[in-house]
Amino acid sequence: MTLIDGKKIASEIKEELTYRVYALNSRGIFPELSVVIVGSDPASLIYIRDKKRACEETGIRSVLYELPEETSEDALLELIETLNTDRAVTGILVQFPLPKHINGMKIQRAVLPAKDVDCFHPMNTGLLSIGEPLFLPCTPAGIIQLLKRSGVEIEGKHCVVVGRSNIVGKPMAQLLLAENGTVTICHSRTRELSRLCAEADILVAALGKPRFITADFVKDGAVVIDVGIHRADGKLCGDVDFENVARKTSFISPVPGGVGPMTIAMLMQNCVLACEN
Ligand code: NDP
Repeated sequence: MTLIDGKKIASEIKEELTYRVYALNSRGIFPELSVVIVGSDPASLIYIRDKKRACEETGIRSVLYELPEETSEDALLELIETLNTDRAVTGILVQFPLPKHINGMKIQRAVLPAKDVDCFHPMNTGLLSIGEPLFLPCTPAGIIQLLKRSGVEIEGKHCVVVGRSNIVGKPMAQLLLAENGTVTICHSRTRELSRLCAEADILVAALGKPRFITADFVKDGAVVIDVGIHRADGKLCGDVDFENVARKTSFISPVPGGVGPMTIAMLMQNCVLACEN
């Protein structure tokens, strides 16, 4: 079993990006990410801190807009419009979840597609689905990099994705398909989930249930990528029962230190790309 070191691979990617940022800077161009957070969700505050640190590591400027919980949808839309038209702002990220009184879909659609570094705008998800992406969705793109940079071939492999959310499962399936994998997508209504998972050469667990994927879901020698993040008894764990699953696999990504750091590295990549474009 080989442990896929997401922290190390993410560092490599961020280092590669510093050269691209340097090349832009030398032409007088400066990537700048505007991060907007509404309210003070503790997990979101941690994500924001990590993103800010990654910006510093790669040489991307970041500006944080911290808005109170009671901010109206109109006020948030107004701020996004200001950022859309500000030429100095090359990327915009609105941290989710948003308070209940704000329509998340409406906010995602308000961000200019060319500055949509999270790749959530319907135009960007549409471009992705026809195979002509402007940006790549961060978590799935990070997983493709984890696989490629670990030497795992995707072409012709049976890839099973558990989860069909718009931010992970669906775009994950599209990227695996684009790499010529043969893809099965599973969800909460899937029958015989464990049997389908046990047929996977590459299994991506993105269902959001702590340690749900046990050893009987996994074929000997399979590659397992764990997307889930949960805090249990003060410790972080994923959707995979790591201790029992790991010994059956050829490659496995841990939690923490697997997919998480890659999501942020790919966000940085989109910030650089937005500026280069
Ligand atoms: P969602 O809750 O939006 O989606 C979960 C998906 O899993 C749904 O499609 C759901 O099916 C499916 N599902 C739920 N229960 C089961 C089950 N028992 N059997 C089969 N399928 C099931 O979650 P996200 O996609 O946003 O995130 C998934 C996990 O990944 C979470 O733990 C999240 O915290 C983590 N995450 C980690 C990131 C990282 O950077 N490491 C980034 C983003 C997310 P249905 O559609 O039928 O309801």
